[in-house]
Amino acid sequence: MAKYDVAIIGSGPGGYVAAIRAGELGLKTIVVEKDPFLGGTCLHVGCIPTKVLLHHADVYDHFKEASELGFEVSGLKINWANVLARKNKIVTKHSKGIEFLFKNNKVEWTQGWGKYDGPGKVCVEKDGKKTTIEASNILLVSGSEAKALPGIEPDHKQILTNRSILQLPEIPKTLIVVGAGAVGVEFASIFNSFGTQVTILEALPRVVPVEDEEVSSELDKAFRKKGINIFTNCAVEGVKKDAKCVTVSFKDKDGKAQTLQAEKLLLAVGRQPMTENCGLEKSKAKVERGFVHVNQYMQTDEPGLYAVGDIVVGLPQLAHAAMMEGIVAVMHIAGKPTHHILKTRIPNATYCEPQIGSIGLTEKQAKDEGYAVKTGKFPFVGNSKATILGSHGGFVKVVSDEKYGEVLGIHIIGPLATEILAEATTVLQLEGTIDDMMNMIHAHPTVWEAMGDAFASVRGLQINV
Ligand SMILES: Cc1cc2nc3c(=O)[nH]c(=O)nc-3n(C[C@H](O)[C@H](O)[C@H](O)COP(=O)(O)OP(=O)(O)OC[C@H]3O[C@@H](n4cnc5c(N)ncnc54)[C@H](O)[C@@H]3O)c2cc1C
Repeated sequence: MAKYDVAIIGSGPGGYVAAIRAGELGLKTIVVEKDPFLGGTCLHVGCIPTKVLLHHADVYDHFKEASELGFEVSGLKINWANVLARKNKIVTKHSKGIEFLFKNNKVEWTQGWGKYDGPGKVCVEKDGKKTTIEASNILLVSGSEAKALPGIEPDHKQILTNRSILQLPEIPKTLIVVGAGAVGVEFASIFNSFGTQVTILEALPRVVPVEDEEVSSELDKAFRKKGINIFTNCAVEGVKKDAKCVTVSFKDKDGKAQTLQAEKLLLAVGRQPMTENCGLEKSKAKVERGFVHVNQYMQTDEPGLYAVGDIVVGLPQLAHAAMMEGIVAVMHIAGKPTHHILKTRIPNATYCEPQIGSIGLTEKQAKDEGYAVKTGKFPFVGNSKATILGSHGGFVKVVSDEKYGEVLGIHIIGPLATEILAEATTVLQLEGTIDDMMNMIHAHPTVWEAMGDAFASVRGLQINV
């Protein structure tokens, strides 16, 4: 029996990043992955394939608007099979990349279903055969799967999840998306660009409900302008299927019964943790509705057992959050200094068109926490690079504390929002103030310089509007 310093169950972003860091620190490490490839949800059916399709949708949108740029394009067609082939090629390349990084860092991996099997033991089952791995520390990083709605189970032909929608043989003419969180609005955006008539049904009062309220209303406005139908405050009650389409019945915001038909329906109503049959019942780990409780070092209540990523209670289900959680766990195992993860320092990036990038407190959250809130807002209409790009909808909103000028939150919707979010994240991480940021020189002409104007607008000193 091999003896490892660290055994990691799951090779998604939480697991593979933890494994590489463990290898770098000289810890003898093994990863157990149920699938025959590495990378998890993020690489195979999440972040990466969706961002490939969003990029293709963006390029297609540019072709559609070519005449505005002075180009004459005729015979523009989508070769869907080729689009999917490019997506698959990118995913495979990066999955192989993780294998390469494992080799470089002396990380071993094995395929099989991994299960915590009491202190220092992981049971691995493959094709009915069981083996045991001995390890001083075990990380459970088993990730999540799409949730269904009561009575509405995915059949992966007409009722889809994030997995099956990535394999559609053709672009559907009509699509109903249930759920307007990041996953729902990204797919709505992709298929709207490719010519699908998209309708969004959301139970809460607004789209992208975790974002600042002004960001939600800006996205709502932009989506409706693009022809996406949106029903908020609505309760989906059932779905009927026939050979051609799905019929969804729901109560709208006024309680009126409505039905809608479409070729396909996407369930994007959240993610459930994959902790069943992972052996947690053999541990003292505290589990709540499948999610695992951890302390600031990602330790569960069971000595030597850590939990990381989408299965953790109270942290956002995001790849970059999972990656940093994995690093914190491994640094702690190696006895190295590490930091705590603060929820307000985790950026959110949603890659629909228009893009959304945000970090920290929304205006409402800051007020609810008792801050004397001062906000500033700069619209991209005043930014010359946004005009050059032909994309000057949206804004940068800054939420600050009036007393010391501390930046509490930044909320961006518009061009390159997920890229210029880098500056917003740095300010929060370094606890910067409005004055620090107003005095920073932003390169011109960039979309990024809208941030400078937004900070200045908190003091009423913006230049470009
Ligand atoms: C459509 C979509 C788009 C997304 N886009 C983004 C984005 O743009 N940015 C972002 O930050 N996040 C995004 N996310 C979220 C992101 O994918 C997750 O937060 C992230 O993958 C979580 O990482 P993880 O390591 O916890 O779990 P996962 O990535 O789910 O990996 C878990 C791994 O564990 C394996 N596993 C499970 N159980 C066992 C077992 N018992 N034994 C062995 N192996 C096991 C699984 O096969 C899987 O490989 C998206 C999600 C979806 C669905």
